[in-house]
Amino acid sequence: MSQKILLDKINIPGIKTYEVYRQNGGYASVEKALKTLTPDEVVEEVKTSGLRGRGGAGFPAGMKWSFIDKKSGKPRHLVCNADESEPGTFKDRYLMELIPHLLIEGMITSSYALGANRSYIYIRGEYMWVYKILERAINEAKAAGFLGKNILGSGFDLELYVHCGAGAYICGEETALIESLEGKRGNPRIKPPFPAISGLWANPTVVNNVETISAVPWIVNNSGAEYAKIGIGRSTGTKLISASGHVKNPGVYEIEMGLSVYEFMNSDEYLGGMSSDRPLKAFVPGGSSVPVLPAHLIYKTAAGEDRLMSYESLSDGGFATGSMLGSGGFIVYNDTSCIVRNTWNFSRFYHHESCGQCTPCREGTGWMEKVLHRIENGHGREEDIELLLSIQSKIEGNTICPLGDAAAWPVAAAIRHFREEFEYHIRFPEKIKNRDHFVAEP
Ligand code: NAD
Ligand code: SF4
Repeated sequence: MSQKILLDKINIPGIKTYEVYRQNGGYASVEKALKTLTPDEVVEEVKTSGLRGRGGAGFPAGMKWSFIDKKSGKPRHLVCNADESEPGTFKDRYLMELIPHLLIEGMITSSYALGANRSYIYIRGEYMWVYKILERAINEAKAAGFLGKNILGSGFDLELYVHCGAGAYICGEETALIESLEGKRGNPRIKPPFPAISGLWANPTVVNNVETISAVPWIVNNSGAEYAKIGIGRSTGTKLISASGHVKNPGVYEIEMGLSVYEFMNSDEYLGGMSSDRPLKAFVPGGSSVPVLPAHLIYKTAAGEDRLMSYESLSDGGFATGSMLGSGGFIVYNDTSCIVRNTWNFSRFYHHESCGQCTPCREGTGWMEKVLHRIENGHGREEDIELLLSIQSKIEGNTICPLGDAAAWPVAAAIRHFREEFEYHIRFPEKIKNRDHFVAEP
C-alpha cells in the first residue's frame, strides 16, 4: 500500500470546508512556517525534499524557487498552474475539487517562502465549478485570518486570486499563462529570461503546478528529509496518476514513486488489469505529449529491468525505447485500438491548439494532421510515412515552446513502434475504408 500524502484525507466527510479541514490538521504548515521558520528555511526544506515539478517537466521545485530574484526589490509572485489540459490528465481537478484547502494552504506557505504578497491560481475555463469551490475556500481562509494582512501576526501579507482561463491549451505553458494573466493573448514567450527572473508584469515569478504546491504543506510539517525517504532515487515522494482507457479501474491514484508498472496495472488496489480481459496493445504513461510505448515495453525497460513509475525508469533508453512520466496521464489501449487513428486524433488536437507563432509548429502540425487523416481514411501514399518523419523532425527542437515537441514526439514514437500498422493502412486502403482493420473487433 503506497503512502498517501495528498489524498490521505479526501474521504473525511466535509473536508472541503475550512472547519473540517482545520480540525484535521489543516493549515499547520502555515503556522509552523510563519511562526518558526524563515522564508529561506522553507526553501531549503523543499530543496531537501527533492520535490520535482508535477506539471510534466519534473524540474526540481526547490531549485526553481532558489532562482527567484530577491535582490531586485521588485514584487514577487507565485502563480499556480491549474490550467490542466493535457489529454489524459485530470488529477489536479480531482485534488482541487475534493480538498481545495490543501492547495490554498500550499499557496500560503509557498508564497511566504518566496516573499510573494500577491499570488494567483490560473484555472482552465472548463473547470468553472472548481473555480467556484476555490473561491469559496479562499473566502473561508481569509475569514479565518490565513489570508490578507499580517497573517497570524507574522507581518506577512498575502492576497490570493483565482483567474479563469478561456479554453486554450497553450495557456498551460507558463509564459503563455503569464501573458493571459496580464490580459493579453496567450502566446508563449521566448525563454530565457525564465519567469523566476522576469515573469508576471516583468516581476520575479514562480509558476508551479497544483500537485507540486499541494505537496509543500506535508514537506513543511514533516521535513524535506522525510519526504526524500519516499520514492526512488531522484524521483522522490508520491505522484498522482490519472488512469484512463481499457483498464478495470480507471481514476486518480496516489502512488509512491518507484512502484512497478506491473503492480500499478494489475493489482486490485490500482488499475485491476485490462477491462474485458482483452490483451494490452500500447500505453502512454504521461499524457498525450509523451511517446506511446508498445506492450512489450510496459513492464520491462530496454535494459531488461522492471519498469517503475518514476521519471528515470519511464524515460529509460531515451525516445527509442522509453517515454516520460510527464503529467502522469496514464492511457491504456487494448488490441481493438487503432494506433493510426489515435495518432491522427492527437495531431488534430495539437494543430487546433498551436498558437501559430512559429512556422514549424503552425504549419507542421497542420501537415501532420492532413497526412495522418488521409492514411487513416484509406488514401495514404507509399511515401507518407517518411514524409511524416521528415515533418516531425523539422518541428522537434525548432519552436518557441514545448507544444511543438509534444506534437512531434508522439508521431515519431507511433511510427517507430507501430510502423507495420501505418504500412497496412497504406497498402490495404479498401480494408481500412470498410473499417476491416487488422486490429481486433471490439
Ligand atoms: P520546461 O522544461 O521548459 O520548464 C520546466 C520549468 O523549469 C519551468 O517552470 C521553467 O521556467 C523552469 N526552468 C527550466 N530551466 C530553468 C532555468 N535555467 N532557470 C530558471 N527556471 C528554469 O518545461 P515546461 O514547459 O514547464 O513543461 C513541459 C511539460 O509540460 C511537458 O513535458 C508535458 O509533460 C507537460 N504538460 C503538462 C500539461 C498539463 O495539463 N499538466 C499540459 C501540457 C504539457
Ligand atoms: Fe505557439 Fe507552437 Fe510555437 Fe508554441 S511551438 S509558441 S504553440 S507556434
